[in-house]
Amino acid sequence: MDAAQQRRHLSQIPGGQSFEQKLQRPLLAEDIQILQLNVGKACNLACKHCHVSAGPGRSEQMGREVFVTCLKILRRHAIGTIDVTGGAPEMNPHLPWFIAEAAKLKRRLMVRSNLAILHEEAFRHFIDLYADHQVEIITSLPHYHAQQTDRQRGSGVFAKVIDMMRVLNAKGYGRPGSNLLLHLVFNPVGAYLPGPQAALAHEYQQRLSQEHGVVFNQLFCLTNFPVGRYLEYLIRTENYEEYMSTLMAAFNWTAVQGVMCRTLLSVGWDGKLYDCDFNQMLELPVDHGAPSHIDIFEFDQLKSRQIVVANHCYACTAGAGSSCQGAIE
Ligand code: SF4
Ligand code: SF4
Repeated sequence: MDAAQQRRHLSQIPGGQSFEQKLQRPLLAEDIQILQLNVGKACNLACKHCHVSAGPGRSEQMGREVFVTCLKILRRHAIGTIDVTGGAPEMNPHLPWFIAEAAKLKRRLMVRSNLAILHEEAFRHFIDLYADHQVEIITSLPHYHAQQTDRQRGSGVFAKVIDMMRVLNAKGYGRPGSNLLLHLVFNPVGAYLPGPQAALAHEYQQRLSQEHGVVFNQLFCLTNFPVGRYLEYLIRTENYEEYMSTLMAAFNWTAVQGVMCRTLLSVGWDGKLYDCDFNQMLELPVDHGAPSHIDIFEFDQLKSRQIVVANHCYACTAGAGSSCQGAIE
């Protein structure tokens, strides 16, 4: 399903009150504290919940020039966090160079890695690269049971992730008192909202340390977004209407204040600018007069831009809310 088809489908929601109508006023950014780079859509996995629809067949990759422009912007502006995502970011050949350059800026530098890729010989060098540059690692683990995780991410993925967590723990990642941070991301395996983050984090900590001897720092709970492969799954299983109704019924005004687009700017592989990674996958670039490409980046205009919203935004404001760093409340 291409982006235009997804947007068309998302315009049809139960009850008909769009996210824009629900808000009743424009949603405005308040700063740019995070520059998120989506460095490409190629991935060694093809997870069922993937909003990027990433996989081994995708070829879109961020080129060197876009990375260079991002570094120039980061040098000029006090943006505190550099958040690298994909696809599998490690499949972008410029990533080792970019990590080394970005680390010199002394910002919070994080990579969203599926970890299973580090199991492959050709990508193992990233383990030392990440540790040497104190890169914060965030990885998805939809369940502490192999069967559930593999159902969503593919056969054998759970075992690979646990293996890599062991290797990273041995390097100091996820250990108390260490400055090497390893976070996990939970998202529901089916069409329902995540439970309370703190309780789930405790459960994950207990189960993973007792059953597999691995540790991590934080667990982020993410709501599944009706975008990409997950939207296709909802439509195929005839769960779309019910899932959207669940998101809409759980709308939470408090979460609106904390939605990530208010402090984040997302850069696509080709340098286009988006309010978040979900808008990027729906091909909804920043608008309302703000510059929409990294080559014409203007901090002052972008930091207070009006955000482009659509009905998938209901996933950010449902229940405790959902951001790229977990629950909002
Ligand atoms: S969810 Fe992550 S690891 Fe899975 S296919 Fe998408 S980008 Fe790859
Ligand atoms: S989906 Fe993106 S644009 Fe919409 S509220 Fe969430 S972060 Fe903001």
